[in-house]
Amino acid sequence: MDETTEIHVYPLFLSSTESRFLLKAIKLFNDCQSLFRMILQSEPRHKAAGEPTLDWSSIETDLQLLSNGDYSIFVTSKPLSDNWFSHTSGSTSVISTSEWLESYSPPHIDGYLLIEFCLVLLIEICSLNELQLNPHEVCTGCLFDFCARKSEIKLKMRCGFICAGHKERFLQFSVQPNQILAIEAVLDRVRDMALGRAGQEPLSHFTSTSSTDTMSTQLLSQDRTVDVAILCALQSELEMVLTALEPTKSISSWVPYGQLNGSHTYYEAEIRSISNQPIRIIAGTARHMGLTACAILTSEAILFFRPRLVLMAGIAAGADKTKQLLGDILVAESAFNYGAGKQQSNIDGGFQPDFRAVEIHGSLARMVRECANDRKLVNDIIERWSDRSKDLRRINIHIGPVGSSDQVMNDLDRVLDVRKHVRKLIGLEMETYAMYRACVDSIHRPLYLSFKSICDFAAEKTDDWQSCAAWTSAQFTASFLRHKWDSIRKIPS
Ligand SMILES: [Zn+2]
Repeated sequence: MDETTEIHVYPLFLSSTESRFLLKAIKLFNDCQSLFRMILQSEPRHKAAGEPTLDWSSIETDLQLLSNGDYSIFVTSKPLSDNWFSHTSGSTSVISTSEWLESYSPPHIDGYLLIEFCLVLLIEICSLNELQLNPHEVCTGCLFDFCARKSEIKLKMRCGFICAGHKERFLQFSVQPNQILAIEAVLDRVRDMALGRAGQEPLSHFTSTSSTDTMSTQLLSQDRTVDVAILCALQSELEMVLTALEPTKSISSWVPYGQLNGSHTYYEAEIRSISNQPIRIIAGTARHMGLTACAILTSEAILFFRPRLVLMAGIAAGADKTKQLLGDILVAESAFNYGAGKQQSNIDGGFQPDFRAVEIHGSLARMVRECANDRKLVNDIIERWSDRSKDLRRINIHIGPVGSSDQVMNDLDRVLDVRKHVRKLIGLEMETYAMYRACVDSIHRPLYLSFKSICDFAAEKTDDWQSCAAWTSAQFTASFLRHKWDSIRKIPS
């Protein structure tokens, strides 16, 4: 049983309206989790009563004396003289509610107090000071966004999350994982309030309890955040991924993720990187092939699981038979929708393309190149292949632009036409662009990468190579993840 940490909350020149919201916020905070318990204290006397603003540097020592070494939060209606929302020093913080009701509400002031509680409490319990937190200068939705424009805090409330980078930093600086989970439970509530869903149960309640794997269910009911989401267009592709990433039996094996009230089935497991770091993964398939279904799947997976990295594995058509072999792996360094553009009559010039590419993160591109040049890694994959009727000994990895569209491509002229506009085109398929776009446009902005292997060349359709191609793609996905996860998790978010 975890010990409860008490937090003393003091009103300090707080208006009577705002005092009522403080009571409500304390109750909500205590109801959301059981690791921290906020206790309202009576208002202390302080000499700054007549001051129009509170100057943190001159009251800091007084408040620390009043708090007597306990975790303490002072809540005031007065503005802070530097216009910040809050300040923390050691185990003492002040939060100002000034201007909130007039300028920023809704969300109401109890929601604002809750998110500020989360922020100052994490700083109080870690061994960093507020200058060492590396807040995001640009708004990302993370609890540790700097919010140079005060209204940006509303985005933070709607997102209600702590980014992977900041979580890791807190874990390094003496915050316990269960303390982060407790704060995240409060943030879930803030998000519901900010989105006007205050009457609903917190999202974490949607986790199924019907799974046969009790350990896993417990894990999930506490925290749905995963490191990696692997998405596929087809069930047959997903099965190759689950096999390629077969977890060590002693850790866990793939188990279906319970009902999430979403429209897809996911599987989850924990695997290990080559340096034995745990990687928590969910994997799922879209309900149909094509861009729309893939965008829906990706968006849902990001919202439910907040992965740091989204990967896609599967099959594609090669773009150049003279340079590529069946089974070769295509890494989409960028992806675009080759159906996007304006269709005019042939007299007026026919199809006028308007391709807008989404590119992968530069560090991921470098890591993929390292893997592609690692002949041992590639040979290990080849050695695992057992079907002698298909020769994989010369397979290669191609890195470049991939075109996606809802059409199944069976027309060489059309391929050549796309290649006229995207000279280095390596392949065509039906999902990657939608996955990349959904990642870029999501509030959590995960990293993304797609590995698809060649099962045919357009105009030369064959089903013979589909399962072999799905296999090489899944194997490369697994090798890449195991070899590069330690570096990927260090990419700043
Ligand atoms: Zn952050």
